[in-house]
Amino acid sequence: MFDHDVLIIGAGLAGMRAALSAVEAGADVAVVSKVHPVRSHSNAAQGGINAALTDRGDDWREHAYDTIKGSDYLGDQDAISIMCQEAGSEVISMEHMGVIFNRDEEGRLGTRAFGGQRQARTFFVSDFTGQALLHVLYEQVMKAGVRIYEEWFLLSLIVEDGECAGAVIMEIRSGEIHVVRSKTVIMASGGLGRVFEPSTNALICTGDGMSAAYQVGASLMDMEMVQYHPTTLKGSGVLITEGARGEGAYLLNSEGERFMERYAPNMMELASRDVVSRAEQTEINAGRGIDGCVLLDVRHLGEAVINERLSQIREIGRDFANVDLLQEPIPIRPGMHYQMGGIKTDVDGQTEVPGLYAAGEAACVSVHGGNRLGANSLLDTLVFGRRSGEHAAQVSKSKSHSGTVTDASAESDRINIQRLLDNDNSGEMFGKDSAGNG
Ligand code: FAD
Repeated sequence: MFDHDVLIIGAGLAGMRAALSAVEAGADVAVVSKVHPVRSHSNAAQGGINAALTDRGDDWREHAYDTIKGSDYLGDQDAISIMCQEAGSEVISMEHMGVIFNRDEEGRLGTRAFGGQRQARTFFVSDFTGQALLHVLYEQVMKAGVRIYEEWFLLSLIVEDGECAGAVIMEIRSGEIHVVRSKTVIMASGGLGRVFEPSTNALICTGDGMSAAYQVGASLMDMEMVQYHPTTLKGSGVLITEGARGEGAYLLNSEGERFMERYAPNMMELASRDVVSRAEQTEINAGRGIDGCVLLDVRHLGEAVINERLSQIREIGRDFANVDLLQEPIPIRPGMHYQMGGIKTDVDGQTEVPGLYAAGEAACVSVHGGNRLGANSLLDTLVFGRRSGEHAAQVSKSKSHSGTVTDASAESDRINIQRLLDNDNSGEMFGKDSAGNG
């Protein structure tokens, strides 16, 4: 029997943050993930997470302004205000849970500069910030007793009487298919980067959750907003963090020029990602590239800074491009990095399908508009993951248990699944609007 108050699809940062807040609000919570939780793609996040802390002379309004401008004025300004206002407490609470952020000379949480922002407000753990956040959240979720269905694969959502009531899920190891009933479902299944080539995203980023939500009538929003990152490695498309430019790296063309002088003389290499990506491609198209790439040079930062703050990209350079960043510049080019669009939600993660929520890269709140600022995605996962978890827990409390299947045996679960699979396109399972254009 699988029956929960809140069922979360995805164990990345959005899913785990949602799980923690839902369990703290008193709900019975379960998380489903097609990979082991700490192999979720959030693990790959390198550069950091943004927050405006007042004791640094920063202000959430400044962060909101940069985010709105960075979004090409297409982001939802109310949602952006909420995200930026709640950023500081979210980062501090992660620190209190056990994330060991880098520190400055005075022992306070250290910051680095990131593109498109007029203040250095990116908090970081070397160049593996996502991994540090994810492992700490996983510990907290385990401690709180959240049930994790590990290496289980979402096949489809269940909608009954117009409300989301659980999911049909395959246990990958055995191939068995299960119905997991729940009063609410939070879709935190991440992005769809592998639709594109080259992409910085892992092979598991295939947009499964967006598709499943769309099938049951949720709208997808801003799907045309696709972000290209300026520094992805020649050949493999592996990301070289923006943190490198935040620490002072140069971009050079085949003539050795810092060509950003021509495109963004004030922000230079730290102009927003769309601006830098376009500038690189313009240089390459004009014949000032090298084998379809330009060069990223960190040598002047020195060995100590590179080893302390950029150790992972030094390894990536050695392993994937046979280049030692201490000795020579590394060839990079723009590559697909992030999908700004996703399942349309309000600021509490609610979609148009009652009982169905979405958070993280699977969702579109929409705080990124036409261009996400670097280090705002981890923030988005935590702020809106938490808000979704809190809201879903409250709604679940107000609902009675979902009747017939609550006390069903595994056998009757299997019979129900067969019926659902047989009726796959009947509208019975997916609600009335199975075309998903609500
Ligand atoms: P994910 O972490 O991708 O988790 C998705 C979860 O859903 C996984 O647990 C997966 O198993 C599960 N799932 C998916 N489909 C199914 C299915 N069918 N059945 C069951 N489970 C399923 N952002 C920043 O703000 N700062 C950074 O420094 C930064 N660095 C980045 C570096 C790289 C290389 C990349 C690619 C992105 C980076 N980003 C960064 C973006 C950021 O990391 C992601 O947007 C964010 O981590 C997404 O988190 P998530 O929780 O939404 O999804």
